[in-house]
Amino acid sequence: MPEGPEIRRAADRIGKALVGKVVLDGHWPFPSLNQADELILGHEVLSVTSRAKAMLIRFSSGWTMYSHNQLYGRWTVHLKTTDHNSRRSLRAEFMTDKHAVRLWSATDIQLVPTAEENGIPFLQRLGPDVLDPAITSTKLQAHLREKKIYRKKGATLMLDQRCFAGLGNYLRSEILHAAGIHPDDRPCDLDDESLDRWATAIKEITQRAYLEKGVTVPKEVALSSKARGEPRRMWRHAVFCRNDRPCLTCGDLVLRKRYAGRRLDYCPSCQPARRDRS
Ligand SMILES: [Zn+2]
Repeated sequence: MPEGPEIRRAADRIGKALVGKVVLDGHWPFPSLNQADELILGHEVLSVTSRAKAMLIRFSSGWTMYSHNQLYGRWTVHLKTTDHNSRRSLRAEFMTDKHAVRLWSATDIQLVPTAEENGIPFLQRLGPDVLDPAITSTKLQAHLREKKIYRKKGATLMLDQRCFAGLGNYLRSEILHAAGIHPDDRPCDLDDESLDRWATAIKEITQRAYLEKGVTVPKEVALSSKARGEPRRMWRHAVFCRNDRPCLTCGDLVLRKRYAGRRLDYCPSCQPARRDRS
């Protein structure tokens, strides 16, 4: 499932084709979009942004199209002269003078007045969006100390969109490893220095994944893993998908755990448990 950085890059791609353009034609064969001819057609696209894993397209009509791809939705951007071929179900199609932007298969789509965007239940429940420039690592550190967060395990916190919006499975393993946090440790088990490292890693690793197309390690680390012939799913990360191999930091074996069926890879030496379980 794409995580916050992948959705933000999709928003950038769609924004390049649509922002500042008038929607000249289109199709909206989805029940919740039956007012689209009135609210989208002939209007300018003002902005395309993402919040966590949701996409928001705002129009000069004062309305916003909200969509969430879940596991199966997909966006495509083509020149409008290009033939497209898909077996997926078309949900929305926006034609400008140059481009055709289409949304396929998604089922969570709504048109809402832009002023009422924040009332969308999914957005209302979200924690701070890690990729939002206003959410600094200082703010994230304060958030780690909040009551509803403080006693939850790292493995839980790094996936729960109500705690930190935009994170997901690969980011979870990578952030905890970069910060040296054991997946079973909770913020309340840790000293200030560890919380500071954790908050910094949440921001930096997610930002890097956004800028570097899903790569969570520094360039030179990725290059040397690549030079050893590793596949992309491995060279782009420090621990995720590197289980049963030596940790790139300390050489100890990377282990795999499962939390609610989702895999988490970590290094027991770089991420020793701080919590006293005696
Ligand atoms: Zn290690």
